[in-house]
Amino acid sequence: MKIDVLSLFPSMFEGVFGESILKKAQEKQAVELNVVNFREYSANKHQNVDDYPYGGGAGMVLTPQPIFDAVDALTKDSKPRVVLLCPQGERYTQKKAEELAQEEHLIFVCGHYEGYDERIREHVVTDEISIGDYVLTGGELGAMVVIDSVVRLLPGVLGNQDSAVKDSHSTGLLEHPHYTRPADFRGFKVPDVLMSGDHQKIAAWREKESLKRTLLRRPDMLEQLELSSQQKKIIAELQNEESE
Ligand code: SAM
Repeated sequence: MKIDVLSLFPSMFEGVFGESILKKAQEKQAVELNVVNFREYSANKHQNVDDYPYGGGAGMVLTPQPIFDAVDALTKDSKPRVVLLCPQGERYTQKKAEELAQEEHLIFVCGHYEGYDERIREHVVTDEISIGDYVLTGGELGAMVVIDSVVRLLPGVLGNQDSAVKDSHSTGLLEHPHYTRPADFRGFKVPDVLMSGDHQKIAAWREKESLKRTLLRRPDMLEQLELSSQQKKIIAELQNEESE
């Protein structure tokens, strides 16, 4: 996969792209990450990229020319999805990450200031993504969140591919709790079942804990799922236990 990021603050990406899974993914050539300062595409002699809003009002607006030209230059040989980070976009989910992970080329456009000229939204962008119902200073942090969650899904990127499949949200449920050594830490003990060596019992415990956690923390997620009869039975048991 190739990912281009258009940003006025490219150095913000150095740490995130230079560490951990994103660094390894580039080393394994699963992804090519390229950050472009779209100021370089400004046709203005002062390399301006923003201007006052027509109609007045607070803040500056990103002008269309540098972003249109940067996207044109990056899309000579392909027609990629162009993702605008934006608090007005669709709220980002694991499902969207899985969808974007199927693409060969993605472009992310990071805004700043008050907003974008609407023609960028209308004529360049294919997807608008919000990473949550709050307002950031710029799209960079949002782009990092989306890129990280997409790249870890690419084949060969995670050491154990199974872990991405079982992660919270991938299954539609929150993941079960994890424990590691020591078995007794300050008197706080690891559940016996996890040390029983009985794989069936462990799987059953994990499924129940996963359903319990989702029921308590995110009941809205259960409403979106088609539960098996076994899962429905476990939920009924959990609800009974809670009302006792
Ligand atoms: N005036 C804009 C509005 O009310 O929709 C907000 C502009 S915000 C200060 C500047 C930039 O930060 C946006 O253009 C966008 O790129 C980014 N941004 C802010 N909040 C975001 C969010 N929740 N998700 C993704 N990007 C966000």
